Amino acid sequence: IASKLPSVGTTIFTVMSQMAAEHNAINLSQGFPEFPISEELIELVYRNMQMGHNQYAPMPGLPALREEIAQKIAKLYQTEVNPDEEITVTAGATEAIFSTIMALVNEGEEVVVLEPAYDCYIPAIELAGGVPKTVALNPKDFTPDWEKIRDTITEKTRMLVINTPHNPSGAVFSPEDIKELKALLEQNPNLLILSDEVYEHIIFDDKPHLGVLADQELAKRSIAVYSFGKTFHATGWKIGYLVAPTSLTKEIRKVHQYNCFSVNTPAQFALAEFLKDESNYQGIGEMYQKKRDYFVERLAASKFKVIPSYGTYFQILNYDNVSQESDVQFAERLTKEYGLASIPVSAFYQQKTDNKMLRFCFAKGEETLEKAADILCKI
Ligand code: PMP
Ligand code: GLN
Repeated sequence: IASKLPSVGTTIFTVMSQMAAEHNAINLSQGFPEFPISEELIELVYRNMQMGHNQYAPMPGLPALREEIAQKIAKLYQTEVNPDEEITVTAGATEAIFSTIMALVNEGEEVVVLEPAYDCYIPAIELAGGVPKTVALNPKDFTPDWEKIRDTITEKTRMLVINTPHNPSGAVFSPEDIKELKALLEQNPNLLILSDEVYEHIIFDDKPHLGVLADQELAKRSIAVYSFGKTFHATGWKIGYLVAPTSLTKEIRKVHQYNCFSVNTPAQFALAEFLKDESNYQGIGEMYQKKRDYFVERLAASKFKVIPSYGTYFQILNYDNVSQESDVQFAERLTKEYGLASIPVSAFYQQKTDNKMLRFCFAKGEETLEKAADILCKI
């Protein structure tokens, strides 16, 4: 049959995790934490199941959870969002992104994606009949090139996808980037922003997370996407949410209603309770910063060059002092011969790249990070 997504294969995360398992390698490829989630959160799910909260939740999400999300947003971004009309609980950020693109991008409309980009944006754009237009981030520090972005936007452009803190690089938006983004919206009255902020709490070195919700002008034109999987170390739960103005939310919910309808009920009850205590999410940037520092310090004796990571749980290393192989070949050899799995950064590009970079996930215990760093120091 004619494929709707001819260029899509198995994701690099699955490929590398499988290769890691086959070769008994340390798996720093696919991004997921190695440590357990909060006992209290587990207890809350269990208790809610026992209480009989086991049937369908309301389509947009449990009202109590949306209320807590609104309060969290008020605390973090000093803004009021309406939980009934502007917040939708989704099956992870992935479903939020998919439903948003399906609902808002029409046949032939262009969507600008900044590369390297997380892998789920472009297939969704293609399924919606949209046309992805990729713009490379600055290859040295992964900051946006606003001039190139401006040059790529035409009257056909419906949406710009941004991601801060950025997977795979750990780059974060600066106040200057926010200024540029606002200017772009002023110049392009029909443009929408899809802002992937799943790592909003995983940000380092006392930098603030500059999300779209903190700015009224941006919030009016944006769909912001978040993930409890990242925030509570529970990537397997697949629960997230999106925040968008009422008129956009109405359209996005039409897709969510038939793509998913509603999300795991006992987990939503548990999250509503767990969110009441902000210490459950406020300390996680610090916790991950220690892991980043531990990993990076142990690489001081290696030939790999560290590209600074200011957020997420990913660290990019440049290996051009070590090998001239392509990143796909080198990642494969590192897994099979040295027992350490990573992600080749070229997997996040549509355009051809040869930048000799691998992404390592440091959401792991010290012992794992130490073993991984020891391997890298021996190469
Ligand atoms: N966006 C980015 C940048 C991500 O890294 C991820 C998860 N790796 C997602 C979206 C998807 O999040 P979820 O697992 O909640 O669907
Ligand atoms: N977001 C995870 C990463 O970047 C992977 C999620 C997935 O396997 N689809 O590694």
